Amino acid sequence: MTKPVRVRFAPSPTGPLHIGGVRTALYNYLFAKKHNGTFILRIEDTDQIRYVEGSEAYIVEALNWCGIHFDEGITPIKNTEAKGNYGPYRQSERKHLYRAYADELIEKGHAYYAFDSAETLDAHRKDHESKGKTFIYNWHNREKLNNSISLSKDEVDAKIEAGDDYVIRFKSPQDETLHLKDMIRGDIEIDTNILDDKVLFKSDGMPTYHLANIVDDHLMQISHVIRGEEWLPSLALHYQLYDAFGWDVPQFAHLPLILKPTGKGKLSKRDGDKMGFPVFPLQWKDPQTEAISMGYKEEGYFPEAVINFLAFLGWNPGTEQEIFDLETLTNVFEIDRIHKAGARFDPDKTKWFNHHYMQEQNDTNLATSFQPIVNEHVQNIDINYIEMVISLIKERATFVGDFWELSAFFFVAPTTYDEKALKKSVKEDTAELLNAVKAEVNGLEDYSVDHLKTAIKGWITSKEIGFGKVMMPLRLALVGDLKGPDVFDIMFMIGKKETIQRIETFIETI
Ligand code: GLU
Repeated sequence: MTKPVRVRFAPSPTGPLHIGGVRTALYNYLFAKKHNGTFILRIEDTDQIRYVEGSEAYIVEALNWCGIHFDEGITPIKNTEAKGNYGPYRQSERKHLYRAYADELIEKGHAYYAFDSAETLDAHRKDHESKGKTFIYNWHNREKLNNSISLSKDEVDAKIEAGDDYVIRFKSPQDETLHLKDMIRGDIEIDTNILDDKVLFKSDGMPTYHLANIVDDHLMQISHVIRGEEWLPSLALHYQLYDAFGWDVPQFAHLPLILKPTGKGKLSKRDGDKMGFPVFPLQWKDPQTEAISMGYKEEGYFPEAVINFLAFLGWNPGTEQEIFDLETLTNVFEIDRIHKAGARFDPDKTKWFNHHYMQEQNDTNLATSFQPIVNEHVQNIDINYIEMVISLIKERATFVGDFWELSAFFFVAPTTYDEKALKKSVKEDTAELLNAVKAEVNGLEDYSVDHLKTAIKGWITSKEIGFGKVMMPLRLALVGDLKGPDVFDIMFMIGKKETIQRIETFIETI
């Protein structure tokens, strides 16, 4: 029987979650759902120096906003009973567990104590550099350094007894070839001579990422590790750790980098700042500097659009179809279709997705979002009216933030007329023609879009005048420009009185 699929998203709470992190969470989620598995959220907070207040809550909120819900993981309140049977799911709350595993590796001869100070190591590094070499703490140098391999047992015991600072390092073997497997990259061979003896346990009594990560993945029975490409260089160590403990190795999939819009280099917050797009799902206020970073949510993106564009950053379904919601993604998502090469981020495509999902939004909800903006300009507008306006303009909108510019004339009369449009549409007989239109409008008993259309079009045809000759200045009178939805819809929406008023004002101006 194959093992049940259990995957985890394991962010470190070191600041807001980058969209690359959201993509990792998404792919894990999709993989779990596709295989009837479990998606776990684990917080890797062993590095207390890099811990940033508020980032854990941010991660949970961001995933919730995207609809990426976890089956097991931390509960919002610290030290409460975790959701799932493999908790706690915060590494800081599992602190007591890790030391025994480090000790087990020492006993088995796979790890050792190292007492070297940061200054000594730095001096070695500099010395090597000056000779054009790279200092690697491994079999090459370890005999010359200050550790339980070079020192006698008594010396080591005495140092520990005296309370000297030490770390525990993994003892990487000499002259071996490791055979690693990655679901995306295939087979990888690594020569152990290039590996250094990574620190597993720090002097502050906390495990490093490497030890905690492997122990937790084992204890939480993780079947597949799906994570960013930046962890690929750690894969050799992780394989060796599984081997040293005698544990089954999970399957690994390292996701491609998300690249700048130019395609060169990793997408960073600075690229977003420079080009005006967010790289975080939600807005983030730095607790120290109070600087605000943009978020997709606050910039007016729909979570469906964010999910859809993230899904395509490094994966495609192999068909022409581009529109996928979470559920349809779950059905088609395959790890085999994830690319090896970096995925170029395209801010315009992201907007394209948002425009698409805008059309699918419910107009009543959109009206609720738009109402406060309308209220800034005019008071007491009926919500049903706002909703009708939205249905007429949303095909031109990408964001709710576009609505006012696209629809202001539905709420307030234009105060100016576009110069170019005036030149193009106002001729000698324009005032005369518009006066006639006004009379037609005034004469309508039943003021509806259909009646307006029949009356005005009929009149134009009967007079054998060019259509544009009337409709262009009429639009300009109502809108102030030559843009906007159908003129008859506008006339109907603003009402008979206001239509006549706007025509009159226009005639007075030209
Ligand atoms: N804590 C690591 C991170 O912040 C997790 C890496 C992994 O998934 O193994 O990305």
